[in-house]
Amino acid sequence: MTTKTPQPRIFCVANQKGGVGKTTTTVNLAAGLAQVGPRVLVVDLDPQGNATMGSGIDKRTLPHSVYDVLLGSASLAEALQRSPKGGYDVLGANRELAGAEVELVDLDQRERRLKSALASGAGGYDFVLIDCPPSLSLLTLNGLCSAHGVIVPMQCEYFALEGLSDLVNTIKQVHANLNPELQIIGLLRVMFDPRVTLQQQVSEQLKAHFGDKVFDTVIPRNVRLAEAPSYGQPGVVFDPASKGAQAFVEFAREMVARLGQPPSPATA
Ligand code: ADP
Ligand code: MG
Repeated sequence: MTTKTPQPRIFCVANQKGGVGKTTTTVNLAAGLAQVGPRVLVVDLDPQGNATMGSGIDKRTLPHSVYDVLLGSASLAEALQRSPKGGYDVLGANRELAGAEVELVDLDQRERRLKSALASGAGGYDFVLIDCPPSLSLLTLNGLCSAHGVIVPMQCEYFALEGLSDLVNTIKQVHANLNPELQIIGLLRVMFDPRVTLQQQVSEQLKAHFGDKVFDTVIPRNVRLAEAPSYGQPGVVFDPASKGAQAFVEFAREMVARLGQPPSPATA
C-alpha cells in the first residue's frame, strides 16, 4: 500500500488535580497547532464541558456528545462540532458524561471505547488533544488508552511533585497493561510567576528530577488566558498579542519540534 493514511498523533492533557490548567492548555495548544497548519481535534472528556464552552460551543445544546460516542449511540463524525474561532474541531461534553462512568462499567472493552472511536473516525486529523477530567477515573483511562503521549500541565507549587506520583504510576500501569505506546511527552509549567521564589525553586526541582521531560516553554500567569473562555475563544485567538497567547503558540511549536514532524503546510 503506497497511499498514505494520515495517522493522528493523540495526546492526553492530564493531571488528577482540578484547576491546574488542563483545559486552558488543551484549547490553547489546539488553537496554536491549528495556526501552524495541522488539522486538530479536541476531545472533551470532562463532564464540566469547559473545553467545549471555551471553544465557543454551547454544551447545553449539543446534538451529540462524547457520551454518545463512548456509549456507541453516535459516530464520531455525527458528534463533531467546529470551534467557530479556534480553527479546530471538537468532540464536546456536558453533564451527561458524568453518567458514562457507571454505564461503561458493564460494557465490553470499557477502557478502549474512545480508542476504537478515534481509530475509525479520526483518520483525517494530524493531532488529537484529549482534555481529561480531574480524576484517575474510567474516563481518564479511556483517554490514556487512546493516546501516544501525555502532556501534564502543572503549577510550580510546594505539593506539585507529590501529586505527580499518582499520575506517573497510573501512566506506568496503563503503559504496562493496556497501552504500550503511552509515554509522558512532557511536563508543562503553567500559571508561572517568576517573581515568586518558591515557583523558581520548584521549577528547578522539576528540571533536576525530570530532565528533558520538562518542556522548555513556560506558560506565564496571564489574565487574558483566564478571560478568554467567557468569550468562547482560546486565549491564543482572543488576544494573540498577550504574553499567555504567545507562550502557547511557542509551546505548539515546541511540541511539533519535539515530535520531529514538521506540520503540513496550511491549506487555505
Ligand atoms: P483544569 O482544566 O485543570 O481544571 P483550567 O484550565 O480550567 O484548569 O484552569 C483553572 C483556572 O485557572 C481557570 O479559571 C483558568 O482560566 C485559569 N488559568 C489557567 N491558566 C492560566 C494562566 N496561565 N494564567 C491565568 N489564569 C489561568
Ligand atoms: Mg478542565
